[in-house]
Amino acid sequence: MVEMKRDLGDLALFGGRAGFLQPLLVGRPNPIDRSRLFDRLNWALDNQWLTNGGPLTQEFEKRVADLAGVRNCVATCNATVALQLLVHACALTGEVIMPALTFAATAHAVRWLGLEPVFCDVDPLTGCVDPEQVQAAITPRTSAIFAVHLWGRPCDVDGLEKLAADAGVRLFFDAAHAIGNTSAGRPVGGFGGAEVFSFHATKVVNSFEGGAVVTDDDELARRVRALHNFGLGLEEVSSAGGTNAKMSEASAAMGLTSLDAFEEVVRHNKSNYEHYRTELSGVPGVAVLAFDENEQNNYQYLVVQIDEDVTGLHRDLLLRLLRAENVVAQPYFSPACHQLEPYRSRRNVHLPHTERLSARVIALPTGSTVSREDIRRVCDIVRLAATRGAELTARWRQAHSDDQPTARVMRDISEWTRVG
Ligand SMILES: *Cc1c(COP(=O)(O)O)cnc(C)c1O
Repeated sequence: MVEMKRDLGDLALFGGRAGFLQPLLVGRPNPIDRSRLFDRLNWALDNQWLTNGGPLTQEFEKRVADLAGVRNCVATCNATVALQLLVHACALTGEVIMPALTFAATAHAVRWLGLEPVFCDVDPLTGCVDPEQVQAAITPRTSAIFAVHLWGRPCDVDGLEKLAADAGVRLFFDAAHAIGNTSAGRPVGGFGGAEVFSFHATKVVNSFEGGAVVTDDDELARRVRALHNFGLGLEEVSSAGGTNAKMSEASAAMGLTSLDAFEEVVRHNKSNYEHYRTELSGVPGVAVLAFDENEQNNYQYLVVQIDEDVTGLHRDLLLRLLRAENVVAQPYFSPACHQLEPYRSRRNVHLPHTERLSARVIALPTGSTVSREDIRRVCDIVRLAATRGAELTARWRQAHSDDQPTARVMRDISEWTRVG
């Protein structure tokens, strides 16, 4: 029986016993039915069809397309390359407008191909790109918008689609967080010119590594499919030639087995979300990011905002404190992309809403491996820390008066982010 932490001295930060023996992680892979996975792998080995759009990949593409409500799905070896395939398939050049509040992959994907990510600010409530800010960032060099359904909550898709049409630029969505979700009842996958899913091991559906481009644009799908296989079968010559971004049959076997569990995982995530909301309701300055209950959500990220003005506790100190308890929470996404190299020194932009959100949010562990009891214990710690935040901060500063708190905490966090 684990005793409850009642006083600041019980916190591991101040020498108490860690709340968890085993680390509680954000993005721990959701368990799958191994016998189904091995059956599929054996089947691929028996048939000696290991890659090159084999039956498992075809089946995976069909199931992802159905979930996304679109006609076409091209499975890839990861989502970063899937984004790059769109750049080539649409011959994008110059500048691509995107939020800075996203995983670095969104920006790196286009930067790697010599295009320039232009970061614009987000809606302070949703954390997704704000169409007005996108509009203000459009220049004659803009060729596309890469919007991100942050934490799985869909962007203002209608606003963005209208804006992109009026401005004559392409619109794509990084939907790495949003498989299975809906906006106004319409599934994520059919918005803009195309959307991209990630099936990285940490995502809600995983194929070890993997991604997909989904779209209702048959011609775009045809080009992406050819380009992801060395450009073979493309009558017109692409300046890029082509690449190898295929999904293997082993990945598709994992992806299919993960999809088999999807509904159950989402049910578990949703119940985790409800437990977190109940446990943290009424804690001043601590807000669990809400999902629209009228929509489908996969609830793969459990995001909490910490208001330091109310709690007296900075998000970075809470991260450190939780880490000491073996709760490996993550500052998704901090630093924001415009604060990261190589972008920081190229353009000095100030994005107030992005920076504010980025400094306040924390992703807490969820997923099938996280139990109700885990959540109760995590929330006990968060509650204790947040309700005694000023006292806690003063005590911690006193113990570390020899160094600059924030700088040091930030260093540690970048370490964890690397490991994670
Ligand atoms: C995970 C993620 C990616 C990258 O996906 P990979 O499949 O690992 O390449 C891109 N964008 C966002 C928002 C992500 O969370």
